[in-house]
Parts: sequence; C-alpha cells; structure tokens
Amino acid sequence: MQAYRLTGWQQPPELQEVPVPDPGPGEVLVRVGGAGLCHSDLHVMDWPAGTLPYDLPFTLGHEVAGWVEAVGAGVPTEAPGALEVGQPVAVYGPWGCGRCHRCRQGVENLCENAGQLRAAGGGLGRDGGLAPYMLVPSARFLVPLGDLDPVEAAPLTDAGLTSYHAIKRSLSLLLPGSTAVVIGVGGLGHMAVQLLKALSPAQVVAVDVSQEKLALAREVGADAAVPAGEEAAGSVLEVSGRRGAELVLDMVGSDQTLALAAQVVRPAGHLTLVGLAGGSLPFGFFRVPLEASLAAPYWGTVTELMEVLELARAGRIRAHVERFRLVEVEEAYRRLRSGAVRGRAVVVP
Ligand code: NAD
Ligand code: ZN
Ligand code: ZN
Repeated sequence: MQAYRLTGWQQPPELQEVPVPDPGPGEVLVRVGGAGLCHSDLHVMDWPAGTLPYDLPFTLGHEVAGWVEAVGAGVPTEAPGALEVGQPVAVYGPWGCGRCHRCRQGVENLCENAGQLRAAGGGLGRDGGLAPYMLVPSARFLVPLGDLDPVEAAPLTDAGLTSYHAIKRSLSLLLPGSTAVVIGVGGLGHMAVQLLKALSPAQVVAVDVSQEKLALAREVGADAAVPAGEEAAGSVLEVSGRRGAELVLDMVGSDQTLALAAQVVRPAGHLTLVGLAGGSLPFGFFRVPLEASLAAPYWGTVTELMEVLELARAGRIRAHVERFRLVEVEEAYRRLRSGAVRGRAVVVP
C-alpha cells in the first residue's frame, strides 16, 4: 500500500510503498476512513533533528477514524463491549504505556513513561493513518463511532479532543456574562468555538488574521469576530464590556498571540496555550493580570474523546472538512501551510 512517510528531519515526506501490516498479538488493524491533517504535522516536518525523540521513518497522520479490519491473537471480539470486525471506530491518538497511574485513569496524554516510549502515538513516531491501513497496538485505543461518518469524525480525535480538554478545565469560570476568546480559528479553533457554545453560556470572541476564518467562526457560532493586529486587544476588551475574558485559548502560540492573550485575559482568568508556534510570554508580577493562571494543555483523555463523540452524535458539534485523496496529500499540506483550509483537511485513502 502507499503511505505518506516522514523519512528525514526537515525533508519533505514522501509517498512510499509499504506492506499492509499484519496485526500481531493484542493489535488491531484499522482500515482508514479519514485522516485529518494537523498543523502539528507541519511543525514535525519543520523542526530539526533532536527536537522530538522519534525514530524515522514513520507514516504521518495522527487524527484517524475508520473500521476494524482484523484483530490479532488475544483481542476479544465476542465479550461484552468487545470490538467487532467491520465496526467503525475512532483512534485515540496519544499512546501511553498503558500501565502507569495516569494511563490506568485513561489520561494517556500525560503517561508517566512517555519519555521512554520514543513515540507519542500513530503518526507521531509510529506509523499513522496517511495510508489505507493503520496498525493500532491495543484495542484500548479504539472508541466506537456509532453512526458518525469516519471522515467527519477523524478531526474529533485531535482538533475536537484537544479543544475539549483545554476548555473543560476552565468551565467553572464560564458563567452567564463571561467571555471566552479563541485566537486562531483553524482546525482546532473552529471546534473550540462550537465546544464553547455547546458547553457554556459565555459569549465567544474569535480572533484570526484571515477574513475567511473569521467568517467561518461566525458561521459556527462565534458571537464576535475580530481581525488580528494592533486593534485586536481593544476590540476584544470592548466586546467583553471592558472586563476582559475569563478564558483565552491561544491556538497559535506566537509571541504576538500570547501578548494579545495576556492583554485581554481578565484578573483570575485562564490563559490557555494550545498552539505550538514556539512563542513565549514573560511571566511575573504585573506581567500578567492579577491571579491569572497559565496552562499549556496537551491533547486529551480517552474518556474525553468519548464525550466529544457524544456531542457530535447529538449534533452539537461538527467538523467542517475538506476532503483529499492520498495522492493529493502534498497539495493538502500546502493549503494548510498557506492558511487556506477552511476547517480541517481530511485525507480519504
Ligand atoms: P490551523 O493551521 O488549522 O489553524 C491555525 C489558525 O490560526 C489559522 O486559521 C490561521 O489563520 C490562524 N492564525 C495564524 N496566525 C495568527 C495570528 N497571528 N493571530 C490570529 N490567528 C492566527 O492549525 P491547527 O491544526 O488548528 O493547530 C493549531 C496549533 O495547535 C498548531 O500550532 C498545532 O501544532 C497545535 N496543536 C497543539 C495540540 C496540543 O495538544 N497542545 C494539539 C493539536 C494541535
Ligand atoms: Zn495534532
Ligand atoms: Zn503510562
């Protein structure tokens, strides 16, 4: 089969012929229905050798849904709640050790043994979903999709889950009259706007450099859309009634967006950094509003993925997707890099 693989750091990935994997004991082979393209893939391609502890080559694609194609020895298919061959599933992306305290809680995104694993999951150090088939090392990483379309469900496993995890920890701050700000309305941001509207009574303000993204933000429920730039902080403060925002989600993470976040977060608010653009913010007294909290959350837990899928099944959130064939993957990444993707680009192998 053809697979889109990272073969060298800071080298363009390539479509290569690789064998269809055979599931070994405990493993599950998934037929890929859709693999979302995340901006993190661009960071992974761009960062120099030594930044990430991954061995090369590996197949990209860490946002995947599809169908159980085959199971290895010892994977139950008859027991209550067991997987069935042909069943549609979402692939939970952060693959922990499965044995530490965090992993046993389902918090594999914060696995205590992550440092020794040399991979964060399929598409991030191990073979991912930019191929017709993907090998998943354990049935515990698969969550039934029910009647969700795998192409629209794929982005829920990262763009949806990461946004949900980042928002959920701040929900107690979001009361009637509160303001939440989403900086960067791309794959993650357009899910974050919908999740905020589904989960809280806060008004939602979107900020982006692109007019098309601001239009998408309004379409998916943002109460206000503010162009990035000199005037952005003033406009956001105005919308918040001059109080500032209880929650600011920075889905970009540059010096510029972090500075904006610090300007608009309210005292005792949460400034939540999700984007990996590599910027930083000076932290000190009088540098951030009094009693503001800063956090850099990572991905989400497997039970949170179940919650995100429930919201999608209930019709409360929906990923906007642009579909591409596997042979068009380079073009899709080019569009993502140039900021032209509306919602999420999903490859349908
Ligand atoms: P994306 O390319 O789909 O969206 C980024 C959006 O930000 C675009 O709409 C773009 O127009 C906008 N933007 C760019 N510069 C801006 C600026 N200065 N001000 C306002 N808006 C700006 O990217 P994505 O896939 O949604 O990922 C967003 C970021 O989140 C990436 O850095 C990615 O690596 C990171 N990420 C982090 C986690 C995590 O667990 N922390 C998980 C997934 C992705
Ligand atoms: Zn990602
Ligand atoms: Zn673990």
